[in-house]
Amino acid sequence: MLAEIIAVGSEMLTPHRQDTNSLYLTAGLNDLGVSVAFKTIVGDNRKHLTAAIRIALHRADIVLLSGGLGPTEDDLTRECLAEALHLELHRDEALLNGLHHRFAARNMAMPPNNARQADVLAGATLLPNTNGSAPGQWLDTTFEGFRKLVILLPGPPKELKPLFDNACKQRLAATLPKNHLARRILRMALIPESQVDARTAPIYQQFPDVETTILAGRAEIQLHFLCVKPSLAEAEARVDAVLDLVSTEMGEDIFSFNGESLEEVVLLMLGVRNHTLAVAESCTGGWLGERLTAIPNSSRVFLGGAIAYSDCSKTALADVPSYLLEEHGAVSDPVARALAEGIRRRTGSTLALAITGIAGPAAIAHGPDAAKPVGLVYIALTDGEDTQVKQLHITGDRERVRLWSTQHALEMLRHYLQ
Ligand code: ATP
Ligand code: MG
Repeated sequence: MLAEIIAVGSEMLTPHRQDTNSLYLTAGLNDLGVSVAFKTIVGDNRKHLTAAIRIALHRADIVLLSGGLGPTEDDLTRECLAEALHLELHRDEALLNGLHHRFAARNMAMPPNNARQADVLAGATLLPNTNGSAPGQWLDTTFEGFRKLVILLPGPPKELKPLFDNACKQRLAATLPKNHLARRILRMALIPESQVDARTAPIYQQFPDVETTILAGRAEIQLHFLCVKPSLAEAEARVDAVLDLVSTEMGEDIFSFNGESLEEVVLLMLGVRNHTLAVAESCTGGWLGERLTAIPNSSRVFLGGAIAYSDCSKTALADVPSYLLEEHGAVSDPVARALAEGIRRRTGSTLALAITGIAGPAAIAHGPDAAKPVGLVYIALTDGEDTQVKQLHITGDRERVRLWSTQHALEMLRHYLQ
């Protein structure tokens, strides 16, 4: 059972508006065991929309359309569907009366154009829209001899979402063959996409019924596995079988098996191991702390720390001796070490991380750090007895150096806790 979503609206072909309805509909369809095979965005243009509908009817069993149900000249979805399916449109009297009442209730006369919102495709069932004037339409029909389900939904998300949830989902569940979808998301940090792909691709060949997607994100790789089966247990067994083989192959590079973020995993592990954490950040300016505090309840294990950006802050906030800064420079192994140890003592945490580096774009002009390359970063992790320091050379712009620094710090901590 393949679905296609058509988002109708010229505004989504500009840089200013995005099609978010299709994301919502995809999640809802997935819940019902239906995977979305195609998405189309098409402008408010009669010729283009009719053509897009025809293409969708050829390649998908379920076609959902959002938008273009309004009263204005550029709202063409009903007309184009009628044309593509060779169906009549008829004006529904009860709907028309309802529209007149809506306007009368606001002491307004209904503009003649609004009557178009009462046009219904022959054979369609109306789906009540409690948040707007144009109802949705549900059409169980045939196209060139094949059964097709066509669903028209209003464009405004605040109308589409409740209409889909309340008037559509249950109807779909009753109409569709009973299918269940299992999905797993594996996440790995700091590893090149090509390497993950080379090592895992041979595994997927044994699972033609599991859809696999590799996504390279911000300093991480995600593997998405999706399987649709008549029973949930069967679908889950298949994705878990892939997961087992992939996790044997990738081992500790995997930080999450259920889609959790790296910071969530690290916070969880800190709690389980009865640790508390503090951070001293120079070139990342609090980004590591931001990532950790974005997770609710992180105060149970994350105590806080310092943005020790200038040399004097490193001394004032984390007791870094000034002779270390003068001798080695702020971006150095001894200073990273001193930052971590200093902030641990100051906060009373059991563990501490420190980050100091040159984020660029220009190298540092004066002092002991001059001539050190952009992208040089030191990360220190201490537990009070032992302090590890990692020297990194991170390529890319300032944003990338800073993000990858926080990612390396979290990974260093995760490996320590493991
Ligand atoms: P209206 O009666 O408001 O004209 P409509 O069903 O004709 O409703 P559109 O005119 O296509 O819908 O869109 C109305 C509003 O909904 C616009 O602000 C548009 O940006 C937003 N919208 C339409 N489609 C989408 C979409 N796919 N994702 C997110 N927003 C959308
Ligand atoms: Mg409109």
